[in-house]
Amino acid sequence: MTDARIPMRTRFAPSPTGPLHFGSVRTALFAWLAARSTGGQFILRIEDTDQGRYLEDTEALIMETLLWLGLSWDEGPEVGGPHGPYIQSMRTDLYREHAGLLEARGAAYWCTCTPERLAEMREQQRAARMPTRYDRRCLSRQDDVRKERAAGAPAVLRQLMPPGRTAWDDVIHGEISFDNADIDDQVLLKSDGFPTYHLAVVIDDHLMQVSHVIRSDEWIPSTPKHLTLYSALDWTPPRFAHVPPVLGEDRQKLSKRHGARNVLEYGELGYLATAVDNAMALLGWSSGTEDEVFTLAQLVERFSLARVHDSAAVFDQKRLDSLNGQHIRRLSTEELVELLEFWLPGTSKETRRKLVPLLQERMVVMRDAGTLASPLLGDAPWDDDVVFPPRKVDAATAIALLDATCAEVSGAGLEDITALRERLTAFLDARGVKARDGFRVLYIAVLGRAQGVPVFDAMAFIGAEKSMQRLRAARARLEL
Ligand code: GLU
Repeated sequence: MTDARIPMRTRFAPSPTGPLHFGSVRTALFAWLAARSTGGQFILRIEDTDQGRYLEDTEALIMETLLWLGLSWDEGPEVGGPHGPYIQSMRTDLYREHAGLLEARGAAYWCTCTPERLAEMREQQRAARMPTRYDRRCLSRQDDVRKERAAGAPAVLRQLMPPGRTAWDDVIHGEISFDNADIDDQVLLKSDGFPTYHLAVVIDDHLMQVSHVIRSDEWIPSTPKHLTLYSALDWTPPRFAHVPPVLGEDRQKLSKRHGARNVLEYGELGYLATAVDNAMALLGWSSGTEDEVFTLAQLVERFSLARVHDSAAVFDQKRLDSLNGQHIRRLSTEELVELLEFWLPGTSKETRRKLVPLLQERMVVMRDAGTLASPLLGDAPWDDDVVFPPRKVDAATAIALLDATCAEVSGAGLEDITALRERLTAFLDARGVKARDGFRVLYIAVLGRAQGVPVFDAMAFIGAEKSMQRLRAARARLEL
């Protein structure tokens, strides 16, 4: 039923109140995948009617984030479309027009209660242990309200929740139902003439012909309000798919308030967009197979809302790291050579091509390229915490090994590093030292640290002369 490949028109409707974090973008990804996997359309709509919470430049940041992740939109800011504008603050006439219709149909009423009166009302309700909601004082005095408004009193338009129940078949949660008596008469138009989210979202989703509203499940309690508006306007409502939240590793909801990271920062740290997409998709969706490494195109092939879980997902940094490493390893040499231009500035294509086999297997994030390649591209200052000679190797053995390596390099050179490694392994063997322990001496000498790219490859990369210089300098430290 839900899985049928009927083209879905979905939307992502962020409020520009700050950068996007993993939780909110994951919802966007699901909406995008639902549209793309069914051959439908994906709409981007900016919900900026709450001017108080508006944060400048956020719109641009939101678009940059979606584009970085490859989530392009068919309709929305920048690209336009038949149902524009796609920025709510540019659609206020439409909201007012429909608000008038709701009022004329008796589905909404004006209210001139002052904030002080509302605060007092709530206080009394709390004291009486009643749910806090509007007591409909203005509903019974609409003639007076009209006069007050004419005299310039600030007023809001409220939705009149009808008696009865509101139910829907949620794509993710199944049947959900509410008693309307438990739902407040929501403000639809604020006294500044701007709509609230609730009015604007219904009008836009309808006029933009959204077929599936895919959004965070924190909106479930609002859905009865929305469905009531659809019905008052004689509109067929869309399907709703309320997506469970992403929790942080502390099991708290991942949100701006919890210091969740701006998704673009993952790019700055060296995560590939495709790995971030992959990790996000696995937060609350399963492919139904053992595989877990997917490109965006593969996600499009496999995605279905039917396999989105109805319980919260927990963000998993280790999984993201592991997926990122796997996506890096799947890149072709040329793709990685291209990407490394940014991470290894000033290097030639040729140099990067030589580095790729040394780096590709060892990188978790792109930024690791700099750390791994720095002793090959420049000097190799020793890590402060390096122990030399390393554990399990005494100074005499270390000196002998450094001398033997120098002699080998100056004699046979670095053409055949496999043979070099074998001869030095035999050398260590004869002294009862495991190659793993002994080679740590060479790692430190050549790279300045106890691990990194394979040390014999590193020597081949920097050349015989530089290798010998570093081996001798290390030896000199032991003689002191
Ligand atoms: N503007 C709302 C938000 O940012 C959108 C909710 C919805 O998708 O309906 O949470």
